[in-house]
Amino acid sequence: MKAHTSTSGPQCRHCTVPVDGSGDTCAFCASYTPPATVAQKIDVLVNRVDIIRSDGNEILRGLPADSPLFAIADLVSALCHLRQAAVLLDRANDVLEADAAVVRR
Ligand SMILES: [Zn+2]
Repeated sequence: MKAHTSTSGPQCRHCTVPVDGSGDTCAFCASYTPPATVAQKIDVLVNRVDIIRSDGNEILRGLPADSPLFAIADLVSALCHLRQAAVLLDRANDVLEADAAVVRR
């Protein structure tokens, strides 16, 4: 007889990754703390945008010299928008943090 689940052992109660039986939480979940505040969440978002931007810049640099100009222009434009997105997220974060500071007083 075969079980329907692919894992037979105990699983992490947070992410269902198999654990070795010495608890109900895997190593990742045991040390992971999710971003708590909006400011921290936006910080994470900005970091992700930066990673995407750097990926995009790498693609741009790797394009062959005879690539279609309109495609290059669109790619450059998209990267500029991503930079703007990071700037706007930072600005929103500053305002939110200032606002939260006022509330705490
Ligand atoms: Zn887990």
